[in-house]
Amino acid sequence: MIVNIAIDGPAGAGKSTIAKRVAKELSFIYVDTGAMYRAMALYLLREGVSASQPEQIARACENAKITIVYEDGDQRILLCGEDVTPCLRTEEVGNMASVSSAHPRVREKLVELQQRLAAERSVVMDGRDIGTVVLPDAAVKIYLTASAHIRALRRFAQLEQKGENPSLLQIEKDIADRDTRDMTREISPLRQAEDAILVDSSELGIEEVVEKILEIFRERTGERCR
Ligand code: C5P
Repeated sequence: MIVNIAIDGPAGAGKSTIAKRVAKELSFIYVDTGAMYRAMALYLLREGVSASQPEQIARACENAKITIVYEDGDQRILLCGEDVTPCLRTEEVGNMASVSSAHPRVREKLVELQQRLAAERSVVMDGRDIGTVVLPDAAVKIYLTASAHIRALRRFAQLEQKGENPSLLQIEKDIADRDTRDMTREISPLRQAEDAILVDSSELGIEEVVEKILEIFRERTGERCR
C-alpha cells in the first residue's frame, strides 16, 4: 500500500533534513522537489534565459530533460543526462528557482514528475505546494516553519561550514524576498493546507521535530501501516 507524507514550508525551515530523516525511519523514498525547481533554474541560467522571458522559459521546459534517480536512497537529479546534484545548492540557483518556479509551464512539468514518483511508491515529499496541489490526498501533511531570523541563522551556519564567508544581513534579506515571492505568486503559492499540521521548529532540535512528525504519522495512519 502506498502512503505519502507531504511537508511544506518556507525556505530554511529544515524541511529537507527532517524529511530525509523521516523517510529513513519509515523506509520511504525522500523526494526533494526544491531540487527539481533548482535543476530547471540551472538550465535557464546556463542557457542565459531570464525569468522575464516566458516564451524562452516555455521552450526550455520542452528541452530540459530532468530525471530523478536514487543512489543508496539518496536522490540525484540528472539534467539532460548530467548529474547536477552538486551544483544546485548555491544562492544564485536558489534565487533563480524562486523566480522561475512561478511560471505555469515550469510547474506543470515538475508537478507531473512529482505525482508520478508518488504514485509508484511511498514517499516523504517536501516543497511549497505538496499538501495543497501535488499530493492533496497525502495521508499526512505537515507545514514546517520557523522564525525568519532562526532560518537565516541556520543558513548562515551552513554556508560558514562550507567555507564561505556569508553576510547574515544579505541572507535575511534573501529569505524575506523568497518568502514574499513564494507566498504571493499567483500559481500554487506557499500556504498551509487546511488539513496540514503546523510544526514550528524555531525552538526544537532535529530529533524532536522528527519524533513529532513520526507521532503524527502513527496517529493519522493507525493500523494501516504498522
Ligand atoms: O526548497 P528549495 O529552497 O530548494 O526550493 C527552491 C525554490 O523552488 C523555492 O524558493 C520555491 O520558489 C521553489 N519551489 C516551489 N515549489 C516546490 C518546491 C520549491 O515553488 N514544491
